[in-house]
Amino acid sequence: MRRILVTGGAGFIGSAVVRHILSSTQDRVLVLDKLSYAGNLASLDPVADNPRFTFKKVDICDRAALDAEVAAFQPQLIMHLAAESHVDRSIDGPLAFVETNIVGTYMMLESARHYWASLPAPEKSAFIFHHISTDEVFGDLENDTDFFTETTPYAPSSPYSATKASSDHLVRAWYRTYGLPVIVTNCSNNYGPYHFPEKLIPLMIINALAGKPLPVYGDGGQIRDWLYVDDHARALYQVVTTGKAGETYNIGGHNERRNIDVIETLCALLEELAPQKPRGLLYYRDLITRVTDRPGHDRRYAIDAGKIERELGWRPQETFESGMRKTVSWFIHNPAWWQGVLDGSYRGERLGLSL
Ligand code: NAD
Repeated sequence: MRRILVTGGAGFIGSAVVRHILSSTQDRVLVLDKLSYAGNLASLDPVADNPRFTFKKVDICDRAALDAEVAAFQPQLIMHLAAESHVDRSIDGPLAFVETNIVGTYMMLESARHYWASLPAPEKSAFIFHHISTDEVFGDLENDTDFFTETTPYAPSSPYSATKASSDHLVRAWYRTYGLPVIVTNCSNNYGPYHFPEKLIPLMIINALAGKPLPVYGDGGQIRDWLYVDDHARALYQVVTTGKAGETYNIGGHNERRNIDVIETLCALLEELAPQKPRGLLYYRDLITRVTDRPGHDRRYAIDAGKIERELGWRPQETFESGMRKTVSWFIHNPAWWQGVLDGSYRGERLGLSL
């Protein structure tokens, strides 16, 4: 029974991590999240009544608040997921990304370091600060055969990936310089339930259900490596509980797909799972519409997840096909969650908590 502090636990991946930990272990979880536009307490509804779960609305840039929460909770493990995470938003307004992803991570590291330094020896050596990052720090791959490994040099392209790369460097520096026991994980694109509707897969499902156009950047030939979010959540728990301090682990699903193929897969699943189409629509794929490509758009990402498979025994449970089927089905059967996001009501008070 561990005490695990999770930042960004009201977000897409953070909430999956919290739901996973509380449903499959006896651990206690404290979530710190500032509830930015991407934070949604409805994603934590399944655990809201669990006595081992606590939520606190905290901005990770607020060092005094962090120190107070860390001192009160006395975490054995910290999983740091809070971040600004949407590439298009980082192009329109990079400052929030610099603040949360770089300055916020610095505040987390300093808070964790001072707390860790005060721990007695056995707890000190068992402590882990786990920083959750992305494969986008590596830039893109020039050919169709290479994979990102843990030693691939960093070459970020967008303000988002540049700020995540910066935070990865800070975390490793705190290990080398101060000895803080850290682990970094770099993961490929996630998809699954509770995914914020600005991201490719939920956007396409929701637009298709409403008979709206499905916008595809450029030729749709950008290749991403997709991982079902619950597989990522299991991997993160495996890493933070059994991984080695100072190490980096790449996490991916070996599911490389072109964006256009992802969208066509979605359309085929919708034909089967939601055959009652909006009036006048013959096939969901008729909604696919080409739009101008994003500046600096990376062409191909692909992860070599061999190290975490070999050393920690983690493997994804879902194939791309099974994960996509679960995802499409979840969005069809949970319209209240995404309609709450679309109409803004998700920003109201939930969980009976005073925010
Ligand atoms: P998300 O945008 O869905 O959630 C981010 C969460 O962080 C939100 O709940 C938000 O309220 C919170 N947050 C933002 N700024 C904060 C601040 N200053 N203080 C406290 N909380 C703050 O993101 P996600 O998709 O769940 O990603 C989580 C982490 O995983 C990020 O670090 C991201 O870089 C990384 N990652 C994401 C993917 C992916 O495909 N989504 C892939 C690999 C890695």
